[in-house]
Amino acid sequence: MSSPIELRVVDVVAETVDAKSFVLEPPEPTSYSSGQFLTIAVPSEEQGFVARCYSLASAPHEGGLLTVTVKRTPGGYASNWLCDNVRVGQALKSLPPSGVFTAASVDDDLLLFAGGSGITPVISLAKETLARGSGSVALFYANRSADSVIFGSTLAKLAAEYPDRLTITNWFEDSQGLPTAAGIRAFAEQFTDRHAMMCGPAPFMQAVSDVLKSLDFPRERRRQEKFVSLSGNPFEISAEVVDAADLGAAAPEGAGCTRVSGEIDGAAFEFDDWRPGVLLLDFLLEKGIPAPFSCRLGDCSACACRVIEGDVEMVTNEVLEPEDIEEGIRLVCQSLPVTEHLKISFS
Ligand SMILES: Cc1cc2nc3c(=O)[nH]c(=O)nc-3n(C[C@H](O)[C@H](O)[C@H](O)COP(=O)(O)OP(=O)(O)OC[C@H]3O[C@@H](n4cnc5c(N)ncnc54)[C@H](O)[C@@H]3O)c2cc1C
Repeated sequence: MSSPIELRVVDVVAETVDAKSFVLEPPEPTSYSSGQFLTIAVPSEEQGFVARCYSLASAPHEGGLLTVTVKRTPGGYASNWLCDNVRVGQALKSLPPSGVFTAASVDDDLLLFAGGSGITPVISLAKETLARGSGSVALFYANRSADSVIFGSTLAKLAAEYPDRLTITNWFEDSQGLPTAAGIRAFAEQFTDRHAMMCGPAPFMQAVSDVLKSLDFPRERRRQEKFVSLSGNPFEISAEVVDAADLGAAAPEGAGCTRVSGEIDGAAFEFDDWRPGVLLLDFLLEKGIPAPFSCRLGDCSACACRVIEGDVEMVTNEVLEPEDIEEGIRLVCQSLPVTEHLKISFS
C-alpha cells in the first residue's frame, strides 16, 4: 500500500489553456475507487522532489489506465512543472491511489458540486455511478468562463447518453459573478434527498456547505475534498516509523499501553500493546494491519478512521472539520493514545 509505484505517461491531453490531463500506465493492475487521488513526486532542483496530490479523473470501469488532470496554480511550483515538463514516455513516481472522498454505492443518487479543477474527482464519481450503477447524478459546475471548463465535451456526451439520470448546471463567473447562495440553493433544493459531494476552491465549498446546512442536509450526506498542497514529503517517510516526539508530542509520563480493537475491510483486530508516544498508524502497520494512508502529515484524509470507543489525541489536523471531529473521525497518522481502550473502524 505504501510503496511508491512508477507510472508511465502514455498520453498528455491539453484540456484548457491552463489544465492538462496525464494518462498514466501503472506497472500492474491498480485498483482504486472513484474520488481517490494519487500522490505524485514532482522533481525539484532545490528539494529533490515535492509531493502533490492529484485526484483521478478516470473511473475504474474505464480500464487500467489512471488519469490525473492538473490545473496550473498561479505562482505554484508543482502544477506548472507538470504542465511544462511531462511528456509521453516519461515515468512519474507516485503513491498508490488513496483517499476517502468516495461514494458508498454506485446506486446512490448524487448531488455533485465542482469548482474549476475540483471537477476531477467529481467527474470520476459521476462516470462510475452512471456506467456501473443505477444512481442519478446532478452536477453544479462553476468556472471562470466557458473557456475554462475542463471535461466539457465528456460531460456533454454523458448528458446525451444519460438524459434521465444526469442533470448539469454550469455557472460562469464572467457573466454571473461568483456563485451566489441563491443560485446554489435553487439547484440544491431540487435534490435534498441525495448524497452531496463537493470539491473546489475554499470559498466555493464554504458557500455550498452553508446552503446544504440551511437545507438540513445531514452531515453524513455532505462530503468535501479540499485541494491543498502537502506541507511535507510522504515519500521520504513512507518507509519508516516516525517518532511522535519529532512531531512535538511527548508521551505522558507513567502512561501504560492502550488496547486497540477495530475492524478493517471486514476483518477484526485487537492488540493490547499500543505504546504511549507511538502514532497509531505506525503501530497498526507494525502489526501488519493494512491501514490506509498517504501524506502521513495530517494534510489529507486518506487515513481517516471513526472512533467508536475511547479517544486519541491528534498531533496535527489540517483537514478534518470540527463537525468531523465531533462525529468521531480521526486521522490515524496523527493519533496518539490517551485512553486505556480504543475501538475504531475504517469502514
Ligand atoms: C486530495 C487532493 C486532490 C487534489 N487534486 C487535484 C487535481 O485533481 N487537480 C489539481 O490541479 N490540483 C489538485 N490538488 C491540488 C494540488 O495538490 C496542488 O495543491 C496544486 O496543484 C498546487 O500545487 P503547486 O505546487 O503548483 O502550488 P504551490 O507551490 O504549492 O503553491 C500554492 C499557492 O501558494 C503560493 N505560495 C507558494 N509558496 C509560497 C510562499 N513561500 N509564500 C507565499 N505563498 C506561496 C503560490 O503562489 C500558490 O498560489 C489536489 C489536492 C489534494 C489534497
